[in-house]
Amino acid sequence: MANPITTTLSAKLSGLLGFSPAVPLRRWSAGQPLVDGKVLVLGSGTGPDADADAVAALLSGSPAQPSATPDSAGTEVLDGWGLDVYRHPVPDERYAAVVLVLTGVEHPDALHEPLLAAASTLKKLARGGRVVTISRTASASDAPAVAAARQGVDAVVRTIAKESRGGATANGIVLGDGVPVTAASAVGALRFLLSTRSAFVHGQLLAVDSTAGALPADWDAPLAGRVAVVTGAARGIGAAIARTLARDGATVVAVDVPAAGEQLAAVANEVRGTALQLDITAPDAGATILEHALARHGHLDVVVHNAGITRDKLFANMTEAQWDSVIAVNIAAQLAINEALLTSGDFTDAPRIVSISSTTGLAGNRGQANYAATKGGVIGMVRATAPLLEPFGGTANAVAPGFIETEMTARMPAVTRQVARQLNSLQQGGLPVDVAEAVSFLASPQAGGVVGRTLRVCGQNVVGA
Ligand code: NAD
Repeated sequence: MANPITTTLSAKLSGLLGFSPAVPLRRWSAGQPLVDGKVLVLGSGTGPDADADAVAALLSGSPAQPSATPDSAGTEVLDGWGLDVYRHPVPDERYAAVVLVLTGVEHPDALHEPLLAAASTLKKLARGGRVVTISRTASASDAPAVAAARQGVDAVVRTIAKESRGGATANGIVLGDGVPVTAASAVGALRFLLSTRSAFVHGQLLAVDSTAGALPADWDAPLAGRVAVVTGAARGIGAAIARTLARDGATVVAVDVPAAGEQLAAVANEVRGTALQLDITAPDAGATILEHALARHGHLDVVVHNAGITRDKLFANMTEAQWDSVIAVNIAAQLAINEALLTSGDFTDAPRIVSISSTTGLAGNRGQANYAATKGGVIGMVRATAPLLEPFGGTANAVAPGFIETEMTARMPAVTRQVARQLNSLQQGGLPVDVAEAVSFLASPQAGGVVGRTLRVCGQNVVGA
């Protein structure tokens, strides 16, 4: 809950520093429509308009129980989402979302038609609207013109995001070779990016690497029947992750240090899960987590490595203790826990590892060499862990938050904090729930084709953008 005194002070400080006030972002709440208004689908695909038509059919079709069974081609059999979809821009119409299907673009010249048709609609994009592109990954084996067009799309998305207003977001889905627009994770990513669950995800390209994964039986409870461990769950982002995973149907094991026992118990009770008091740097932490999950809940499916600490100091002045403690909590513990789970034989049912990185792990940050080593480490760790989970239908991915309003960032000096809030295209700090929504998406069956990636939740922070 926002403190009215600090809110007023930050507004005053923003005014003094010449910052414009941020537009409040709309977050998910029960009963909200997936998209609150008209949706424009532009673009083409292989074959005349094939991919764009398939996406339009998905968005506009009548809602029914989705089938989680892939057809013989490995693509999901899709039921529609009942949205109000248009295939051609109507002058002066206000759209809540614009979806640009660019999978068939094979030369930069071919960007003209769909992109300029979209451009004319953006002035009237609804407050909190969405722009989502669907394109293909550019690789060295592409013909140069194909690679140029595909890579160009990424930079256009980032540019549209930088120009967006009114709390609207712009993001892209980048499909790997051979992944159809109807693959479970392409569909899952589209739904995530259109919804308010992605309120603070802005200017990002989300890669869908494979056709793995499945659509959930219930989009409001994609984690039903899953048991998820969340470390550092007593407060801040970890507590929000515990609440969000539980909201999405998971049974949660909330882990934190014994000193945070009271807060931990409160979170565990709130989400009807169980609490496990544990320092994750304990040598047997992995075994303890697994024993607890198996004994209390019968299985373990999802691990969210969220616990983290900072011990900031300019690198030249850093002590061994500052360096070692951050390495121990933020990365060494995660590696050891993963190793214990992967060798246990009990983490094999489409398992998911989601680890919290940071924009510091991508770009570095003054005074945070120790933290940067660990948060960059997380990005490398998930990339190399994902292939180990693939034989079991599992994935490992990371979420890299930018500036998020928590007790950790509340300790920053007021002016630094206010400047940090403004350093992204949405000109505000994110909330713990924004990180939690991305974690829940990556933990879900509909993200099974997102493999070893790092998704930024940063409002398009300039750091490392
Ligand atoms: P926080 O300090 O509010 O909460 C961290 C939690 O981890 C605490 O409850 C703490 O007790 C627990 N923890 C610390 N060491 C532990 C250990 N050894 N064993 C078990 N639990 C332990 O932090 P937060 O802001 O909620 O951050 C959560 C994660 O997100 C961290 O990994 C952090 O690095 C990352 N992150 C935060 C931000 C931000 O802006 N707040 C930005 C980027 C990344």
